[in-house]
Amino acid sequence: MKTVDNYNFKSKRALIRVDFNVPLDAGFNITDDSRMRAAIPTINKVLADGGSVILMSHLGRPKDVPEEKYSLKHIVKHLSTLLNKPVSFAPDCIGAEAKSKAKELKTGEVLLLENLRFYKQETAGTDSFAQELASLGDVYVNDAFGTAHRAHASTTVIAKFFPNDKVFGYVMANEIASIDKVLNGAEKPMTAVIGGAKVSGKILIIDKLLDKIDNLIIGGGMAYTFIKAQGGKVGSSLVEDDKLDIALKIMQDAKAKGVNIYLPLDTIAAKAFSNDAESTTVDIKNIPDGFMGLDIGPVSEKIFAEVINVSKTILWNGPLGVFEMSSFEHGTKAMAVAIAAATKKGAYSLIGGGDSVAAIHKYNLADQVSYVSTGGGALLEYIESGSLPGVKALEEQLIKL
Ligand code: AMP
Repeated sequence: MKTVDNYNFKSKRALIRVDFNVPLDAGFNITDDSRMRAAIPTINKVLADGGSVILMSHLGRPKDVPEEKYSLKHIVKHLSTLLNKPVSFAPDCIGAEAKSKAKELKTGEVLLLENLRFYKQETAGTDSFAQELASLGDVYVNDAFGTAHRAHASTTVIAKFFPNDKVFGYVMANEIASIDKVLNGAEKPMTAVIGGAKVSGKILIIDKLLDKIDNLIIGGGMAYTFIKAQGGKVGSSLVEDDKLDIALKIMQDAKAKGVNIYLPLDTIAAKAFSNDAESTTVDIKNIPDGFMGLDIGPVSEKIFAEVINVSKTILWNGPLGVFEMSSFEHGTKAMAVAIAAATKKGAYSLIGGGDSVAAIHKYNLADQVSYVSTGGGALLEYIESGSLPGVKALEEQLIKL
């Protein structure tokens, strides 16, 4: 894999696709700048070499035309603070002004282009649009892991216009290295902890993981579909009745492949989907009518933590309960603590997928696990399909050289 470390950017204009899709409040203040901070080392590498930087990103989901609330101009000031230098802004990502601003860039200068998704050609992956973007820089750097699963103009199509000058940024390189470590170089036993709301969103990833893992821990809303499929009484818990067969098939496949499946044995069941609802700890196969399971119970917590404790590789995707509510966060928190403890003993732990990332941050344990992925959808798709369009675009053509 060719990264920014294998390239000398001296006197080059680096066109860097970053993921600056940050949340903004009503006053356009950035409420979480972690995606911006993640890109700083790559930008600084280019600048340290004596190059200049043109940054391109999307922000939000504009409807293919400019929309004030999705303008990247709102983040210029903060970017400038993070880089500790002025950042200029091109109010259109292509066209004459972007071209002249890019051309006039001097060593050490940084230019941010307006939101790529103000053009529908970005998501459509239009060649001519990608070529126009490509004309702005001498070398292409992809550091936007969060969008690497999309074959968009700036993430994938553009790579072909830089046959000899395209490299991965640090965010991309680190993400890929951590997934590869888990999928291809995992020390055994390997455990996947899969939670979240529904089975439907996790079928493909579970299917793929069954060939890699020794233990599969299932929690969250999806567990109740597995319990019902085995004849359990789940009250008013979240259930996908059209996925009962799939749940059984997953269990059969796991057995055939020698994977131990751990489902919760007990659950915290509540009368309503509310933090203050009356709740009780019950056998997960016998939830009373009118009660819904919103967290795993203490017995399950203990068993799951023991499995995690003896694992050498751990992948965690999805909360074990409704961790946003304090009454139902105990199971998720216990898993985060168990994963951090196993990591301390030498296990490799990868946390990926929006809500488990939110959980590990909530419990201040992000620095006690091996890697926290920045790209939920991209991570899942990488595991499911073994690569991503944005990664292939950089690698395939390098191989052809
Ligand atoms: P996902 O995006 O599929 O990973 O789902 C994450 C969401 O699942 C979180 O918002 C959790 O609150 C929710 N969740 C976890 N456990 C349950 C449960 N037992 N019942 C309903 N929702 C749940």
